[in-house]
Amino acid sequence: MSHPTTMRALQFRELGGLTEVQLPVPEPRPDELLVRTTATTICTSDLNDIACNPFGAPLPRVLGHEGAGLVVAVGNPALGFAVGDRVAVHPVIPCRSCENCQRGLGHLCSRMGHLGLDRDGTFAEFFCIRADRARRAPPGLDPAAAALLEPVAVCLEAVERGRIRPGETVLIVGDGPFGIIMARLALPRAPRRIILAGRHDFRLSQVPEAVTLNEKRTPDVGQAIQELTAGAGVDVAILAVGSQSALEVCVASLRARGRLVVFSAINGPASVDLFRVHVKELEILGACNDQDLIDAALERLTDPALRLGSLVTHRVPFAGWPRAFALARGGKDEALKVALVFGDTQ
Ligand SMILES: [Zn+2]
Ligand SMILES: [Zn+2]
Repeated sequence: MSHPTTMRALQFRELGGLTEVQLPVPEPRPDELLVRTTATTICTSDLNDIACNPFGAPLPRVLGHEGAGLVVAVGNPALGFAVGDRVAVHPVIPCRSCENCQRGLGHLCSRMGHLGLDRDGTFAEFFCIRADRARRAPPGLDPAAAALLEPVAVCLEAVERGRIRPGETVLIVGDGPFGIIMARLALPRAPRRIILAGRHDFRLSQVPEAVTLNEKRTPDVGQAIQELTAGAGVDVAILAVGSQSALEVCVASLRARGRLVVFSAINGPASVDLFRVHVKELEILGACNDQDLIDAALERLTDPALRLGSLVTHRVPFAGWPRAFALARGGKDEALKVALVFGDTQ
């Protein structure tokens, strides 16, 4: 299959926005696949990168790390993929040799490669991915849903870190796409109750199985959680929004031996009531990326009961990218995941 030599791409050149540019189609290295993008979803972290480049990506850089597409070239025939394969990809590229990688913690690799960060990403008509970070997408899986492979994997990590047991009560604070995905992923663990706190009715309504609290109408969320649990508190609290007040609600809501999962980072120091951690023997667990959950995530994506594809509320043709980013940034009452989709690529 032949492919063009140039492509449209969204380049991050300076803080505040992206620029549509024409770039050469990249060449896959011997261990990589060249993928023609069919769909790529916008992540909160893309919006943060554009606003303040917190990870210090060298510019210019094609952003985007949640993608799916069609293999159009393979770096070498032994990679296990063929031209024409539909793939979903995981943007984290462990080096496989640093100390963390050797401990089996490739997701915390100290020399981590990452699509859209140290190499060009998926907001382009083509991108390259190391073959071990790609999976064949099952037939019938919508490309925009396939693009959710990594967000689902990282949410699965947070749910696993929380070790939710049947009958337990789970609190998730934050109603962004991650909070919603984590709530859906927690359901098969048969919690007694999931309490989802956020600020947008549209988003909170995405998990009808959960008891929801809209902070706009419930000024004292901590109190409301105590009432919901008859004063017992929750077993697991997942911080899915990076704010000090959310962190305080999580810690204050945990019962003895409860687990706090810190999924959303707070930039800079935050304060935690360590006396409470001490007297209640609480556990604080970080969750960042995922430890080899790529196949498990693909399984969840294809589980109709979890309806994860419904997270993609908008599919915007690539040419409409400014609208797509505006929706992802400001459309909190109508949008969850916004996908850029490309024309028929067969
Ligand atoms: Zn992401
Ligand atoms: Zn490494």
